[in-house]
Amino acid sequence: MQDLRDRLSRITDLSHAAAILEWDQETYMPEGAEESRARQVATLRSFAHELLTDDDTSRLLESATPESEVDQDLVRITRKDVEKATKVPADLIARMAVASGRSKGAWQKARATNNFSKFAPHLSTIVDLTIEHAEALGYSESPYDALLDQYEEGMTTAQVARVFSDLREQLVPLVKTIAAAPPITDTAVHGNFPHEAQWAFGIEVAKQLGYNFHHGRQDVSAHPFSTAFSITDVRITTRVDPQFFNPGFFGTLHEAGHAMYEQGIDMALEGTPLADGTSLGIHESQSRLWENLIGRSRPFWQHYFPRAQKAFPEALGRVDMETFYRSANAVAPSLIRVEADEVTYNLHIMLRFELEQDLISGKITVEDLPREWNDRMEDWLGIRPSSDSEGVLQDIHWSLGAIGYFPTYAIGNLMSAQLFAAAKRSIPDLDVKTANGDFSDLLLWLRTNVHQYGRRKSSGQILQDATGSPLSADSWMEYVNSKFGDLYGF
Ligand code: ZN
Repeated sequence: MQDLRDRLSRITDLSHAAAILEWDQETYMPEGAEESRARQVATLRSFAHELLTDDDTSRLLESATPESEVDQDLVRITRKDVEKATKVPADLIARMAVASGRSKGAWQKARATNNFSKFAPHLSTIVDLTIEHAEALGYSESPYDALLDQYEEGMTTAQVARVFSDLREQLVPLVKTIAAAPPITDTAVHGNFPHEAQWAFGIEVAKQLGYNFHHGRQDVSAHPFSTAFSITDVRITTRVDPQFFNPGFFGTLHEAGHAMYEQGIDMALEGTPLADGTSLGIHESQSRLWENLIGRSRPFWQHYFPRAQKAFPEALGRVDMETFYRSANAVAPSLIRVEADEVTYNLHIMLRFELEQDLISGKITVEDLPREWNDRMEDWLGIRPSSDSEGVLQDIHWSLGAIGYFPTYAIGNLMSAQLFAAAKRSIPDLDVKTANGDFSDLLLWLRTNVHQYGRRKSSGQILQDATGSPLSADSWMEYVNSKFGDLYGF
């Protein structure tokens, strides 16, 4: 067992060293170093892969005698990791890397020139390789199961499709009701929000939520993310728009939510593959919970609005709390996913989930995509993109070969509401605590029910144990109906 642990710790070190290089690439690395950095990361990652798939690792897994439950989980999860890492032939991995490298460049050009036909042949190659990849990984019902399983282990396409169709039936009419109600303007979140003041305010709040800066830090990057190099070093990045409050502040809360998850993993799992988020859905549930269910709530702003006024006197000096709260929660169907509000966001995801399944099953072809995209946007959100750059070309994911990834965003939203409802049941005065700026009980609840386990529990198991039910749309629908019913008067 100790030999196995030593080996896994070396693999983990190599992966984390690669992650530090990647973090540096997005934050401080000079542009001209891209090529050498790509090579360095690939070297470390291939070493880690070789060590994991080496016969010695399999021998250690066979002969190890687990002495604790953690040991048992370590052997069980590592076996799965090895199996996954050896299932896909090296030549397919290499072909996928080449195809996504080319396709990413083609996507960038196609998006910039609004010309889908420049990207289409590359996307066709990606789809073909993805199907080959799914076949290599194996599945029980549909190839899409294998793709989803890479990001949300244990969840099946059929299960997610059921939950999403339940969600859509309720959400499409809700969006129509809101669109017909007197609109809420978001003017209060636009104005003069100086960079330094936003930076300081975001960090102050993130610290009070429970993100530990002794074991973390925040830097600027073009696309915000969080990354962990160990349980004791979990970092976040953000971007700041000095004329718009939302991206910087809510981005910081979002990434701090991801980071608090990894900071909360049991230290006994440090240096093992168990010290990681258990799925993208659970990870996103943690970021969304702090960003939306806490950060966009009325009790939260009852506490923080006076501070925000002091931090941004020019923009907020003559605004009242309620106007600000409404501004931060304005809903309006829009074309771009990353700019979408809390209510319409899930529809953007479900659209992509359906299209991905249709592409993989052959129901539609890449050529059909722009029309299919626009038709569904019009059906569900009541708006139609006037260009493909605002439609099918807006996201980078497909160009990188990440098919099966999108649904985890909406799964995370649903999980966030489900977990929050359970937390509220066990902390009845949670709103009062939030209004007092006291988040310790909520963080402790999340540590106890979600964070500490790392990968020891699957996402399904975490939900079941923490909330008493499997993934469902109910809590999230209840939450948006109540919150936005109050805001929009229905
Ligand atoms: Zn996220």
